[in-house]
Amino acid sequence: MERKVFGLGDIVQMKKPHPCGSNEMEIIRMGMDIRIKCVGCQHSVLIPRVKFEKNMKKVLKSAAADEQ
Ligand SMILES: [Zn+2]
Repeated sequence: MERKVFGLGDIVQMKKPHPCGSNEMEIIRMGMDIRIKCVGCQHSVLIPRVKFEKNMKKVLKSAAADEQ
């Protein structure tokens, strides 16, 4: 199975867009559950990691890469 790499502060693209129209989310908390914040409307949701990995399409902007 493909392993997705993501970290705190990353901007990710989801497979399904948020009701507000944006499909970009920022990871604001990592753990067994992951809290993501919609870039479009700032609404945040807590979802299980497994579900997040399934719904996440790709990492658009890595926070770790920014530090270089
Ligand atoms: Zn939204």
